[in-house]
Amino acid sequence: MTVTNEPSFRKSVDLMFNRAVALMDLPPGLDEKIRVCNATYTVRFGVRLRGQIQTFVGYRSVHSEHMEPVKGGIRYATNVRQDEVEALAALMTYKCALVEVPFGGSKGGLCIDPRAYDDHELELITRRFAYELAKRDLINPSQNVPAPDMGTGEREMAWIADQYARMNTTDINARACVTGKPLNAGGIAGRVEATGRGVQCALQEFFRHPRDLAAANLSGTLDGKRVIVQGLGNVGYHAARFLSNEDGCLITGIIERDGALFNADGLDVDAVRSWLFQHGGVRGYPDARHVAEGAKVLEQECDILVPAALEGAIKLSNADRIQAPLIIEAANGPVTAGADDILRAKGTVIIPDMYANAGGVTVSYFEWVKNLSHIRFGRMQRRQEESRHKLLIDELERLSADPGVNWNLSLNFKEQYLRGAGELEIVNSGLDDTMRVAYQSMREVWHARDDINDLRTAAYLVAINKVAASYRAKGL
Ligand code: NAD
Repeated sequence: MTVTNEPSFRKSVDLMFNRAVALMDLPPGLDEKIRVCNATYTVRFGVRLRGQIQTFVGYRSVHSEHMEPVKGGIRYATNVRQDEVEALAALMTYKCALVEVPFGGSKGGLCIDPRAYDDHELELITRRFAYELAKRDLINPSQNVPAPDMGTGEREMAWIADQYARMNTTDINARACVTGKPLNAGGIAGRVEATGRGVQCALQEFFRHPRDLAAANLSGTLDGKRVIVQGLGNVGYHAARFLSNEDGCLITGIIERDGALFNADGLDVDAVRSWLFQHGGVRGYPDARHVAEGAKVLEQECDILVPAALEGAIKLSNADRIQAPLIIEAANGPVTAGADDILRAKGTVIIPDMYANAGGVTVSYFEWVKNLSHIRFGRMQRRQEESRHKLLIDELERLSADPGVNWNLSLNFKEQYLRGAGELEIVNSGLDDTMRVAYQSMREVWHARDDINDLRTAAYLVAINKVAASYRAKGL
C-alpha cells in the first residue's frame, strides 16, 4: 500500500508493522493484540517555581507486558504528545524482542523545554514527575524501568533513582528502578555512549557482508566513507566520534538546530561538540561552511546518512532528494512511512531504528542486571584471568629463551594479552555480540524470501515472531 499523506508517528509505526504482519501467518487476532498499546497514563502535576505554581503534563505508556519489567526512555521536549510516546513505546517492544533483551516496551515523556529551567528547578520537576510515576508502579525495578532519551541524561536518572529510593526505603533493588545512571549512583561503564557505540557496531556488521553492501551500491570498508549526521547530542555525537576516530570515516556534515556545518574534507567531531556546548549552536564554527537551512544537508551526496535527532526528519517532501545510498536510523522514527516507500523504491538501504539504536537498551539491560546482582562486572574474575594469562606468557618466554629458538613475543601483544577485561570491555563485548547476532537474524530473513526486500520489514518479522512466541508460551 502506498502512503500519500504523511501519517502521524504512531500511524507510521503501525503501517510498518502491518506491512510485516501481512507476510506472516499469525493466529487470528494476535497481530492486533501485539500492535495495540496496553495503556497510557497521563499525569498533570504542579510545581511551585518562580513564585507561582506551574503545571506540567507527562506520559508513561506501556505498549506490551509480554515480558516484565517494561523498558523505555523518558523524553523531555516541548512536542511530547501521547501519540509520540505510544509510537516510541511500540518501537521499544519490537527493539527489545529483536536484540533479545528480556523486557516489554514502554516510553515516557514530559512536555517541557529543559533549557528554559535551571538545574534546581529541573530537579524539582523531575522528582515530582518521578513521584507521580513511582506511586503507580510506573517506575519499579520489577515492573517498569525508565532510561534517558532526548533531553534527559545521567543527571535526571540519578534524581529519579534517588526519588524512588526515598519512597521505597526497604527495597534492596531500588537502584534497578531506572538505568542510565551515573557510575557513582549505580550506573555502568559504557552506558552514556552505548547507543552511539551500537550504531558503530551495526555499521561494522553491515560492512562485513558484501552482498548487503552491494545492495546499497557500496564496497570496501568504513575507512574513508563520507558520513552526514543529524543531531550532535548523545547518540549522534558518540556515533560520529567512534566512526571518525576508530573506523576512519569522514564526517562531512553535521546538522543541528541552528543550521548545518559542511566540510568535504571531514569535520573534527570533538571540536564541533565543544563549540556547540560553548555557543549553544554550530553557527560561527570556523572550519566549515555553515548552511542556515540545516535540513537541506540531509540531501547532500554522502555514503552514509545518520539521522540522530528527531522523528520525521526524512519525509514525503524530501525523501526523493535524499542521495545517500545507506541510511542508519540512529534516532527513533526519523524516516516516515511515506518516505520509507519512496526510499525503498529508489533502492536506498535503511538500517532500521529498532535495530540501529538498540545499543542503549542493551547496555541498560546490563546495568539492570548489575544492579540486581549488586556487583560490578569483572570484579570476581579479572585478576584470576590475568594470572592465568601471565602463566602462559611466562611459559612462552621461558621457551623463547632457548638459544635454538628464533622468536620473541612482541611487547604490544604481551601488554594486551596480560590485561584482564574490566567492566567497560565486558559491556562493549556484550554490546557488540548483541548487535552482530541481531543483524544476522534480520539479514537472514531479508535474503531468504523474495517478498521481503528491506531490512525494516525483516526486523519487524523477527521481532513480531518473538513477541508472538512469548504470548503463545503464556497460553494466549
Ligand atoms: P539528545 O537530546 O542528547 O540530542 C539530540 C540532538 O539533536 C541535540 O544536539 C539537539 O540540539 C539536536 N536537534 C534537535 N532538534 C534538531 C533539529 N530539528 N535538527 C537538527 N538537530 C536537532 O538526544 P539523544 O539521546 O541523542 O536522542 C536522539 C534520538 O535518539 C532520539 O530519537 C531518541 O529517541 C533516540 N535514542 C536515544 C537513546 C539514548 O540512549 N539516548 C537510545 C535510543 C534511541
